[in-house]
Amino acid sequence: MTARIREFLKQRTNDGPCLVLDLDVVRENYQNFARALPDTKVFYAVKANPAPEILKLLVGLGCCFDVASLAETEAVLAAGAPPERISYGNTIKKEREIATAFKLGVTLFAVDCEAEVEKVARAARGSRVICRIHCDGSGAEWPLSRKFGCEPVYAADILEFAHKQGLIPHGVSFHVGSQQHNIEAWDRALASTAAVFRACAERGIALTTVNLGGGFPARYVRKTPKLESYGKAIFRSLRKHFGNAVPETIVEPGRGLVGNAGMIEAEVVLIAKRSPEDEVRWVYLDIGKFHGLAETIDESIRYPIRTAKDRDETAPCIIAGPTCDSVDVLYEKTPYPLPVSLAIGDKVLIEAAGAYTATYSSVGFNGYPPLRQYVI
Ligand SMILES: *Cc1c(COP(=O)(O)O)cnc(C)c1O
Repeated sequence: MTARIREFLKQRTNDGPCLVLDLDVVRENYQNFARALPDTKVFYAVKANPAPEILKLLVGLGCCFDVASLAETEAVLAAGAPPERISYGNTIKKEREIATAFKLGVTLFAVDCEAEVEKVARAARGSRVICRIHCDGSGAEWPLSRKFGCEPVYAADILEFAHKQGLIPHGVSFHVGSQQHNIEAWDRALASTAAVFRACAERGIALTTVNLGGGFPARYVRKTPKLESYGKAIFRSLRKHFGNAVPETIVEPGRGLVGNAGMIEAEVVLIAKRSPEDEVRWVYLDIGKFHGLAETIDESIRYPIRTAKDRDETAPCIIAGPTCDSVDVLYEKTPYPLPVSLAIGDKVLIEAAGAYTATYSSVGFNGYPPLRQYVI
């Protein structure tokens, strides 16, 4: 927890769980990316946390933006970014959304099939397109699976089709899966990418850009490699697969830029045992899967949870949210050690909660309001 967040929480009088996010940490993270991946443009994946304060800060630092929708496009423009700094990275767009984004000045779009190319060709004439290739996501705690990206061998066909439709084939993108622990995960994708570059060159199409996606981790319970190691591994792979002709590169960090900048303060609502001799207690918080902690699905993301009693003896707990829905359990398969002295009404701090939380909160399931966020 940063000193600023600690101060803020001391002053806070409002009831209910909240997320507090420290902009100083986002700034530091941005600078770390610039250092670890020199000559690589950073496009912030807005979906991780679209708070206007974060967007404004990043605009001022010279950051570019990866948007998933029209609303995110508008938010980035409202924060003061020129449209040239936007990449519309979602491969699933309505044609009228593409048309509106193009009218707003956006000229870079991701595609992963010919039908999407046709939409972009009609709605955003002459734009640049990046073809997304499929990545298996192994090594990631939050894999992005088979939903996105063509098989790499078809990418050259799709980019050639784009060229014939009057678009500018710009490059190749992929995403190695979010919260990626393996620093070598980019290597295989870069081998495929280099093959696409060669196949396009043979057809007279010169690609210029590789979009390395996101995947850079935030520090949760499990230790993660340093950003610097990711940068080194990626550049080793670029040189290995592209030789002297290393293309322009961009990255799209979401979690890596904002994850560790935010922390949730929540409260223990109930502690129960299902039988007197039960060793495992059920600890119910006033926040769960429906109000910001959706990434605990399958216990994928294991947040560090702190209490004021952490020096006391601990015992395993099942942690659950407050709603009347049995999927609203955060950690059960692997119980979570919490202090034996933990009591109803105690505050708990959920760390590294700056990414994929506030916007994952439902609008009012069970009558609980969406997670409140304070950006300081
Ligand atoms: C979600 C997403 C990102 C951000 O991923 P992180 O793992 O949070 O860094 C980047 N690019 C695309 C296309 C995405 O969908």
